Amino acid sequence: MAQEHTALTVAQEQLKLAAEKLHLDKGIYEILKRPKRSILVSVTIKMDDHSIGVFDGFRVQHWDVLGPFKGGVRYHPNVTLDEITALAMWMTWKCAVAGLPYGGAKGGIACDTKKLSIGEQERMTRRYVSLIADYLGPHRDVPAPDVYTNAQTMAWIMDTYSQLKGYSIPESVTGKPVEIGGSEGRICATSQGVSLCIREAAEKLGMKLKGAAVAVQGFGNVGYNAASILHSMSCKIVAVSDSIGGIYCPDGLNPYNVRVHKNKTDTVQGYEGATNITNADLITSKCDILVPAALENQLTKTNAGKVKARIVAEGANGPTTPEADKILHDKGICLIPDILANSGGVTVSYFEWVQNLTREHWTLEEVNEKLEKKMTKAFNDVYKLSAKEESDMRTAALMLGVGRVAHALKTLGLWP
Ligand code: NAD
Repeated sequence: MAQEHTALTVAQEQLKLAAEKLHLDKGIYEILKRPKRSILVSVTIKMDDHSIGVFDGFRVQHWDVLGPFKGGVRYHPNVTLDEITALAMWMTWKCAVAGLPYGGAKGGIACDTKKLSIGEQERMTRRYVSLIADYLGPHRDVPAPDVYTNAQTMAWIMDTYSQLKGYSIPESVTGKPVEIGGSEGRICATSQGVSLCIREAAEKLGMKLKGAAVAVQGFGNVGYNAASILHSMSCKIVAVSDSIGGIYCPDGLNPYNVRVHKNKTDTVQGYEGATNITNADLITSKCDILVPAALENQLTKTNAGKVKARIVAEGANGPTTPEADKILHDKGICLIPDILANSGGVTVSYFEWVQNLTREHWTLEEVNEKLEKKMTKAFNDVYKLSAKEESDMRTAALMLGVGRVAHALKTLGLWP
């Protein structure tokens, strides 16, 4: 798909828009435009064939005026400092919108996990953590999973950090397996949050979820679980996709069965009874609800005009460019922006951190109940502001997030 933007230009344009709307002090705007700290490391490991592997690693800490840095770690061949910087900036606004006591960060390594053995991934993760450990910690910066990292990766991060400090520190990372201090409900949390936002939006639009056609781009943690949860809420999942391509079936797909097929064949494509489509086709497919849950820059000025959905819920970070935002808004499509829609993940990460710090373990019911409260509050805060400002939901969410961070920055002042 032609790239009209990078993630960073999108994030910077969004901040500019919010700054203008908020009449933000120029100095504060200049501060928020840049991250507080960017760390670049060379991650060197022994490969299985005894050669040496060298990978570029990053950790960007945007701003921490509301609390310790928090953000995922991404393993993808296209990871760059610019992309990680944009993702860190979005984390800052997201935590503020969700009302969490965190700042925003993001990390990543430019690598192709499909070409690395589990042993190589483990050595790469541990080496990466050892290189940035001085800047991590439960009260400094707490990593979590993102694209092509998972609970196992988080377990290696926790173990490496704990070994370096000499004692077990489960609160140093979130998204861990439950057996070593992870939270119930964390794996599905992002998708649960996306689904709660869709439920709220549908209610506002007077739209029935029963039988509503849903297309989901990306079939990983966020995409698969969103499809499953929406399926269990009686929606009809008509299209799903992964990095290889997608499938479309107007009669509806069972996400679990598609996953069994993907586990066998490495792709959703070729699923019996469905038609193979491209990722581009999925975006413009006939559906009521579209959930982009893969990567950035998927809804652009080229395809936004052809979107048929009434609701777009951004499971992914940064899937829509500013030009596409405008086109979707003009078409009357309700777009639930990433910094609101996918904030369920960091919200349950926050619950995990609180449980670790207090040595408590909450039940799934407790976690989901607290998540629902936080998500519906965040959704309604943004919805009300968008009505007051007569703006789209993205502008309102940015105003809320950037406004809270800017206020905290001003109150704390600059030292020295
Ligand atoms: P994941 O690695 O579990 O899954 C990624 C999925 O995207 C895979 O199915 C992969 O095949 C697919 N994919 C990769 N390249 C693609 C392409 N070019 N076109 C279509 N599909 C492609 O990752 P995830 O954790 O599900 O993250 C997905 C998105 O959600 C990312 O934008 C991430 O930042 C965001 N997000 C994740 C979380 C979380 O808790 N995991 C929280 C908030 C936001």
